Amino acid sequence: MTDMLSHFKRQQQTMVDLLTTLINYETFTSSKPDVDKLGRYMEDQFVGLGASSVQRIPQEKVGDFLLAKWNEDAPGKPIMFLIHIDTVWPIGTLAERPPRIDEQGRLFGPGAIDMKGGITIVLSALRGLRDLGEFPNRPIWVLMTADEEVGSTYSEALIKDLAKQSGLVLVMEPATPEEAIKTSRKGVATFQIAVEGRPAHAGNAPEKGINAIVDLAYQTLKLQEMNDLRHGTSVSVTMVEGGTATNVIPAHASAKVDVRMLTMQAYADVCEKIMNLQPYVPGAKLSVTSGHTRGPMERNAQMQADYEQCRAIGATLGLTVREDSSGGGSDGNFTAMMGISTLDGLGPQGDGLHALNEHVVLDSLPRRSALIAAMLKDWKFKE
Ligand SMILES: [Zn+2]
Repeated sequence: MTDMLSHFKRQQQTMVDLLTTLINYETFTSSKPDVDKLGRYMEDQFVGLGASSVQRIPQEKVGDFLLAKWNEDAPGKPIMFLIHIDTVWPIGTLAERPPRIDEQGRLFGPGAIDMKGGITIVLSALRGLRDLGEFPNRPIWVLMTADEEVGSTYSEALIKDLAKQSGLVLVMEPATPEEAIKTSRKGVATFQIAVEGRPAHAGNAPEKGINAIVDLAYQTLKLQEMNDLRHGTSVSVTMVEGGTATNVIPAHASAKVDVRMLTMQAYADVCEKIMNLQPYVPGAKLSVTSGHTRGPMERNAQMQADYEQCRAIGATLGLTVREDSSGGGSDGNFTAMMGISTLDGLGPQGDGLHALNEHVVLDSLPRRSALIAAMLKDWKFKE
């Protein structure tokens, strides 16, 4: 099996060229025509790699999605890759920060680690298996989306639907700076708190008013009390708004709340507490609405077993696969919370997601491509 690793090591320059090509397509989420250009390039790549079908799922507001399949008629459940081609970088960033490689073998550039490096690894792993004549006879799917950086609003239902049919979901988000995969991600939930009071002249008749800001201040403190950082739950009031003029008792106030948690139980508990907040100022009306949510990717027994299998496959190649956790969410949260085997952070080693120092450690590309290729060959679904 170490032959496989050396094969990929010999391909490193090809991978660097591919990664550079991908970065040179600017793919800011909301710039659909630009994102679609990379989509067409990806379509050609999938066809060139012998996909038995490549389905385009057209989108109005973001780049079109693609679903590429290999060995559709082979027995067994598919292994599905989740990749997203969009980035957080506005068009023009590339001209300011074109791809460059430093003397430590790190490639810097917009979208390098999130996630064009991960895309490079999937394409390279599939190519390597073909070149070596070791392409496994099992269904393999690649779902390419283009809205991950805005919360996967348009792709969430599709991701869940396809995950339901899959035996294993591999999320190509970056590894940690230490090259660990991610076996736990916090869930995120947002809420809006709105208080309605009654306006009154602050000088003539303040007692006739119902001060919405006072009520919101009380709610803010109640929310702050819900923090349980020791168990991984954070509740943060992150935005507030209220009042109309200095001399008016405010009739309206509102706040936005960001909640993060590690387990579905914590998620249910904290949601219930927030939805049950009660007004404090007599006569005030309180409304709580829940917004965007992504449940946690839990490090449960299934996750530990899947990580163990990944680690063991890595060991056959002479690779050490480590695990770590992340406070941020990914599309892996959707599939893991459905109980589907999910491994995340399978992209390259590197750092600086959404930051100016975004980079990929280039010699991790062959390591991860070999790991992915070996997983496609050897992965066993549990009975
Ligand atoms: Zn990403």
